[in-house]
Amino acid sequence: MERPRYSIVAPCYNEEGVLHELYRRISAVMDSIGEPWELVLVNDGSHDRTPEIMRELHRRDPRVKVVDFARNFGHQIAVTAGLDFAQGDAVVIIDADLQDPPQVISDMVNKWKEGYEVVYAVRTHRKGETWFKRFTASLFYRLIYRITDVKIPLDTGDFRLMDRKVVDALKQMRERHRFIRGMTSWVGFRQTGVYYVREERFAGQTHYPFRKMFKFALDAITGFSYLPLQLATYLGFAIAGLSALAAVIVIIARLFIGAAPFYGQATTLVCVLFIGGVQLITLGIIGEYLGRIYDEVKGRPLYVLREAIGFGGSEALSTRREVE
Ligand code: UDP
Ligand code: MG
Repeated sequence: MERPRYSIVAPCYNEEGVLHELYRRISAVMDSIGEPWELVLVNDGSHDRTPEIMRELHRRDPRVKVVDFARNFGHQIAVTAGLDFAQGDAVVIIDADLQDPPQVISDMVNKWKEGYEVVYAVRTHRKGETWFKRFTASLFYRLIYRITDVKIPLDTGDFRLMDRKVVDALKQMRERHRFIRGMTSWVGFRQTGVYYVREERFAGQTHYPFRKMFKFALDAITGFSYLPLQLATYLGFAIAGLSALAAVIVIIARLFIGAAPFYGQATTLVCVLFIGGVQLITLGIIGEYLGRIYDEVKGRPLYVLREAIGFGGSEALSTRREVE
């Protein structure tokens, strides 16, 4: 089979309701571009009929290829596996639920042909998501922008096109706690954006409850910033400064006014609890980084495969070996 020029990578977790429609829309857009393409579907340990439907699509159209995980490893890892297996000169990451409209891919391809190496999609609106999700997402993007060292464009998700050179650079970054949009900013290259409206989910519901979003935010922050660690230093200086000031006030008051400006147990208790709280928080922050270091040091593979279908056996295995 001829080598694909474009690879579309879609991570899927319990997406039985959308896969047929995803295939239909992707193939319509990609066929209209008129160059060979492949659709890499990554099954991230779904509990529904997702893997069966993927295999069925592959039987119908061998351009659909399947990467089947042994369990759920999470969205960012699923995307990573898709990038590892994709063979195209340009690779597009897209959500399976059709919130990222496939027709945007043709705009991305045009930009790529103009010479851009990363074309990310910027959301101008989000449809059908709760105000809570929109609010936390907006806060998240702005916080990350402020405190991290790489400048990640605001309101962009993982929906993006990347040149082969960018994908090869990403494949060398095997960190476990992944924030792929940050990693693509980090590698550099010529980048530009296209605008789109984020649609409602085609079927099913979000797999990013608050708990997962929080963990994702922590991965993003710890992966790209030392600011939380430095916070301990700043807090330490601030509190030490304040207490030195308090000591001076107490001494002056005792010597010259003959009164104690701080009274009784309550003051002591509040001070002790405050310091205790600050110490626990900073310990927790150190713990977040320490746990991540431990995960890296263990050096486990990022994911475990049950099967990879449609990549021509040895070829796929050799790409995987290269990167591990
Ligand atoms: N996803 C995944 N593994 C997970 C959670 C989600 O592969 O553990 C996939 C999911 O199938 C979808 C994409 O990641 O294609 C985005 O997830 P979702 O739509 O649930 O998140 P949201 O768009 O609500 O942020
Ligand atoms: Mg979604």
